[in-house]
Amino acid sequence: MEQTSHQAVNINELLTKRPLIISGPCSAETEEQVMQTATQLAATGKVDILRAGIWKPRTRPGSFEGVGTKGLPWLQQARKATGLPVAVEVATAKQVEDALHFGVDVLWIGARTTVNPFSVQDIADALKGVDVPVLIKNPINPDLELWIGAVERVAKSGIKNIGLIHRGFSSYGNTEYRNAPMWHLAIEMKRRNPELLMINDPSHICGRRDILLDVAQKAIDLDFDGLIIESHVDPDMAWSDAKQQVTPEKLGQMINSIKWRTEDINSEEVHAHMDKMRAQINHLDDELMQLLGQRLKVAQQIGQYKKDNNITILQTNRWNEILERAIANGAKLGLSEDFVTKYLDTIHMESINIQNKVMNS
Ligand code: PEP
Ligand code: MN
Repeated sequence: MEQTSHQAVNINELLTKRPLIISGPCSAETEEQVMQTATQLAATGKVDILRAGIWKPRTRPGSFEGVGTKGLPWLQQARKATGLPVAVEVATAKQVEDALHFGVDVLWIGARTTVNPFSVQDIADALKGVDVPVLIKNPINPDLELWIGAVERVAKSGIKNIGLIHRGFSSYGNTEYRNAPMWHLAIEMKRRNPELLMINDPSHICGRRDILLDVAQKAIDLDFDGLIIESHVDPDMAWSDAKQQVTPEKLGQMINSIKWRTEDINSEEVHAHMDKMRAQINHLDDELMQLLGQRLKVAQQIGQYKKDNNITILQTNRWNEILERAIANGAKLGLSEDFVTKYLDTIHMESINIQNKVMNS
């Protein structure tokens, strides 16, 4: 695979910077738009990498599908003018080849591509023998295995520097988010791949600019390594994703207003205090586990009693009574109804499973 040698910037080193900020338009539209956005982003001093879509996977045909290869020289030019390395989405082997030919520094695989193992494999095959960082967005459906599969395919092709982008998961109907963040999935992905860079994409999660900062802050509080946020010189006039883009100036302000916290516990005093509180948590978790064990043992006894007396496992009135009591008790302790219901539901299901076993043994 032909690859333009990269100058000055050591991209692998840059990708270790925390927080890592990637920004730029959803789509490269014109040479002027790319140059202006890039220049203004560079002027904020907050951005590490310039992003731009060249080939756009659109839900419906007839929407703007990207300028295609002719936009790559614009990125090259923006890179030269600002010193910002550039990142582009690739969905086919040909796109990989073209992007590398024009010296693109970082490739990413979009959510609509991660879902398809054939496409990911084609990209992975095109990457054999190439040294370029590849960021892999979560698939549009909430399937961790599919996301991990894409990482494995790219890793097998010999790519050393792989990162993850959490851009949320598609759901039916109108919700607060364009793509539900389902944070627990990103957290689990991070737990399973602690060595991989994990970036959050508030733009595609939110789909609208007014809640970008909230999502970005949450990601940073969850110890994500960085953010990828779409920006455009004239967001409302953008040819794709107009509602979620912000001006470079707004982007700069947003990055400024994020509270950056640290996972590292550096002072002795903070360390000692955290240890003490964590010991309390461990102690309480142990007690909760003991109690849960006892509760389920009683459930088992009730199951036996129901069996002996020919009573059904589920008695709706009793379940309502348990729920109401718990919700009222929880409220006094500041526990939300949603949490109490979910918590009891889980225990209740396990209780039913146990009783089912007793009944049918
Ligand atoms: C994009 O980043 O512009 C994009 C198309 O995102 P996603 O793959 O997350 O839909
Ligand atoms: Mn977009």
